[in-house]
Amino acid sequence: MKGRKLLMIPGPIEFEPEVLQAMGIATNSHVAPDFINVFGNCLELMRKVWKSPKGQPFIVAGTGTLAMDMAISNLIEKEDDVLVVSSGYFGERFKDILNCYGANTTLLEAPIGEAVSVEAIEKELKNKSYKAITITHVDTSTGVLIDPKPIAKLAAKYNVLSILDGVCSVAGEEINQDEWELDIVLTASQKAIGVPPGLALLMASEKAMKVWKNRKTVVSNYYADWKNWLPIMQAYEARKPSYFGTPAVNLIVALEASLKIINKEGIDNRIKRHQLLANAFRKAINALDLKILPNSNDIAANTLSAVYYPESIDGVALRTKIASSDVIVAGGLLSEIKNNYFRVGHMGSVSANDLVSVLSALERALIALNYPIASGRSIQVFQNEILKN
Ligand SMILES: *Cc1c(COP(=O)(O)O)cnc(C)c1O
Repeated sequence: MKGRKLLMIPGPIEFEPEVLQAMGIATNSHVAPDFINVFGNCLELMRKVWKSPKGQPFIVAGTGTLAMDMAISNLIEKEDDVLVVSSGYFGERFKDILNCYGANTTLLEAPIGEAVSVEAIEKELKNKSYKAITITHVDTSTGVLIDPKPIAKLAAKYNVLSILDGVCSVAGEEINQDEWELDIVLTASQKAIGVPPGLALLMASEKAMKVWKNRKTVVSNYYADWKNWLPIMQAYEARKPSYFGTPAVNLIVALEASLKIINKEGIDNRIKRHQLLANAFRKAINALDLKILPNSNDIAANTLSAVYYPESIDGVALRTKIASSDVIVAGGLLSEIKNNYFRVGHMGSVSANDLVSVLSALERALIALNYPIASGRSIQVFQNEILKN
């Protein structure tokens, strides 16, 4: 396809042709037996991707923000104390949502490019009795990856609900919801799950469902209330018709296609592919003397990379030049440094070929703007890394 653009932003990502074809089917009734079966399959396949055989999945039309809203509105009541652990823009969004429901929030915010330490979190949990802790697995604004495992463990120890924003991580970074005792892991369709935008996906632990059932006050969000959605999810899983709000029929058909592709590759293989490509990409970026935003490799995401522009280069000019090679990357998102960096998404069906294209477009753009590099330098490093495996 001549003039095809390569979309390398951290969501929406490029989607598999099978997924897009599935989207294009004639829309079925939401209570047709075929569709009921597809919906039921999606719920079952989600448990495999989340590694949560005991979890209660929810699939609702909306975006990742709705999934965050759903977690908070169902689990948090007015005056509840919630610890918000943030490594960027999306960590802070939890605080905004919590404020809407009258929670008392304490914000533990990492300096830009860093992650809040487990010690700092434990100190806070020891200090005060919290109802829940919110964490962002990969903050898409900074490319900082945190390890949810020790944090979820602490949360379990202090009897605090753990709510993980996995919008930029589910199906791209390692997640083991049941074993790690994470209470909520949520995402959206358009990121590593690999389905066009429009679905909010959430998995709740048995404990989370219990806490919701034992609420003292009603949920002050009509659309997101699990009271409305739990019977629907249970009905679809039992392959029975039901209705609350019309499901996004075509997106759910596409979700089934994508979850099947993910499980065919195998979730562990998929995570490894993300790690391998991200690691090679970071090394290639470093070979151009460009700096990655996260301060260390251990906290650099495998689903996207945030990269500082060189000081001598105008960011908009660089991205315009990259776009003229038909490669689309994203600008900065964190307000403090918005104009100082760009972001490259590498999740879902991303391949080494895609990243070679990004590096090649990036090198050409840098050279056109008189940045002193030898052409091919990053591609050679990338290639050598890939060949090692
Ligand atoms: C994209 C993203 C969101 C928001 O998802 P929307 O679908 O845009 O509402 C939330 N958290 C993280 C980590 C994200 O990457």
